[in-house]
Amino acid sequence: MHRTAATAVEKIVAGERLAAPEALALWDLDLLLLGSLAHRVRRRLHPEPVVTFVCDRNINYTNICLSGCRFCAFFRPPGHPEGYVLPWPELIRKLRETKDLGGTGILLQGGLNPDLPFSYYEELVGVIREFGLHVHGFSPPEITFFARQTGLSLTEVLTRLQAAGLSSIPGGGAEILVDRVRRSLSPHKASAREWLTVMETAHGLGLKTTATMMCGHLETLAERTRHLLLIRELQDRTHGFTAFIPWTFQPGGTALGGEAVGAHDYLKTLAVSRLVLDNIPNLQVSWVTQGDKVALVALQFGANDFGSTMIEENVVAATGVTFRLSRDDITCLITAAGYTPVQRDHLYRRVVACGGGDQGAKTPASSSPASFSTPERGEKSAARATEPHSFGPLPKPIPLAVIARVGAHRDLMAAGVTRLGTWRLSTPFGEANPVHVFRQGELEFAVLSRHGEEGYHVSAPFVNDRANLYALKSLGVQKILAWCAPGAIHEAMAPGHLVVPHDILDDTRGGPHTFFPGRGPGFIRHHPVFCPALRRTLLEALKACPFPVHGYGVYAATSGPRLETVAEIRKLKLLGGDLVGQTLVPEIFLARELELCYVALCYVVNFAEGVKDRPYTPGVLFEGLATPGEATRVREVEAAFAGLALRLLPALANAPGECHCARLMERYRLRGDLGEDWRTWFP
Ligand code: SF4
Repeated sequence: MHRTAATAVEKIVAGERLAAPEALALWDLDLLLLGSLAHRVRRRLHPEPVVTFVCDRNINYTNICLSGCRFCAFFRPPGHPEGYVLPWPELIRKLRETKDLGGTGILLQGGLNPDLPFSYYEELVGVIREFGLHVHGFSPPEITFFARQTGLSLTEVLTRLQAAGLSSIPGGGAEILVDRVRRSLSPHKASAREWLTVMETAHGLGLKTTATMMCGHLETLAERTRHLLLIRELQDRTHGFTAFIPWTFQPGGTALGGEAVGAHDYLKTLAVSRLVLDNIPNLQVSWVTQGDKVALVALQFGANDFGSTMIEENVVAATGVTFRLSRDDITCLITAAGYTPVQRDHLYRRVVACGGGDQGAKTPASSSPASFSTPERGEKSAARATEPHSFGPLPKPIPLAVIARVGAHRDLMAAGVTRLGTWRLSTPFGEANPVHVFRQGELEFAVLSRHGEEGYHVSAPFVNDRANLYALKSLGVQKILAWCAPGAIHEAMAPGHLVVPHDILDDTRGGPHTFFPGRGPGFIRHHPVFCPALRRTLLEALKACPFPVHGYGVYAATSGPRLETVAEIRKLKLLGGDLVGQTLVPEIFLARELELCYVALCYVVNFAEGVKDRPYTPGVLFEGLATPGEATRVREVEAAFAGLALRLLPALANAPGECHCARLMERYRLRGDLGEDWRTWFP
């Protein structure tokens, strides 16, 4: 194996980003090696055995096109007798049918038709939205064309379409983002730079997009690689691409002609895409060009998404390639491949689970006790979860809780876990953060975001730990998994690694650090500080985890909200600190005063100040302390939260009670300072 290719393999295994020469060297690797590497990355990004798909319809509003791309069999030039603009009644019929078939969106694309005014597109989008369908519409060449036609800027075109109801943009028209190729294939269409500029502008306006690549025609492998690197570079800046969709040129009926490349080239391209595009979460198979059998194999070559049910497709069909799969076909194929099929929308949010598990969509709302909120899912539930709720008593105690980052409950809902209700409790120490109660199979557990429900509103020194822990104890919680995001002092604990700390170095000031200020109780031993039974169980359960795990580490706690200076980090290092953060203290000590079993799972988000040389980046905090590769690995861990939680929580629920956590205040009970019922401990 060539040295550069060997370096590429080493880097992939270590979870590191590939440099351009290493990306190019991937093409020299054997197909099966590439597949296994891509599948490894896919598993790291998507630990759950789930394959997603979207139920939608392609609507091609016109086939009249000025561009005349040599690879396109779909278009007709202006004045051609077969040219069409979709009649409105026909559009309405298609939209009704899409709704009836359970579709959630429309992929809207057409030719560059000189006779349609811009108001036509706004009206088109508005009509689709009236049917409650997501509009995933207008590829960059269309947007560029609208801008040229109207004299509007790209921002103006996109803003007006967004106002009309456009929700996201498909990545069509990318072909190969190298102008040598584009000049030959489609000289009248948007250039590579224009395609990228449309996407950057859309991302800046908050529109998510996909990216595509049509390969197997005039391009070299170096040009394919260049295409991937350009997309990776833009994604580093904008984070606006949701998915990448490579597909192969279909020559039938096109001016370009030639032979279609086969499955070998397609699968290799798919795997290389997965390995180079380390910052794009989803990779889609192209069953519409490759057929169902190759699409199934593609699930072992890095792909995690089966694309669309395509109630209607015209562009590839025009080349004579007419693979067709129904929604049932897709779910059966995915299941047969050993995955759980999950329907998503165009923003890759899960819509409904298809088969397997006690997931939200399969649990009727009526099965929830009347005193709970109705189980909610997806976007609507995320918005409503921030509303205050008031509910009656729980039917039974919830013994297990996760204290996690902002929005953790939304990740779980998106993963299809049933939310039974949300509680907002008043305690003797003030109002607690909302507690969301979930059920997955037999397991019920609570989730509390310590920094608030949205946007890190409650920074570390202002978290009401006493109220939060009191609320969890009131709900019956006995065991807590604390998910937190410290910086690394120890150089081996790199961003994206998981650490199960074994000890605490408390360098905080202020408080309150006890439930009993000025009252006496609180002198308790803190060895071991974390529940040993939960730590053992957690480490065992993390053995199959796709991320590097450190089983030991001293968590040095500071007060914040400011970050630590270089000298302070040096001090903490000298004292034995491996990680530094502002969340576990006083949370853990308060949890112990309530006799709760408590264990922490840290995911490292950056190296602490001064550990690595990182230039100051205005406008960002932790992101500025991490390289793009490190930031990608951190995002991978964050994206895996729900999957990890669902794997770890059942194990923690069954952890043996070989600890003293539930008797830490025994001394005070024996002395009569505290009563048998913990609720009597507080005035
Ligand atoms: S690919 Fe699009 S822009 Fe090119 S000819 Fe076909 S319809 Fe027109």
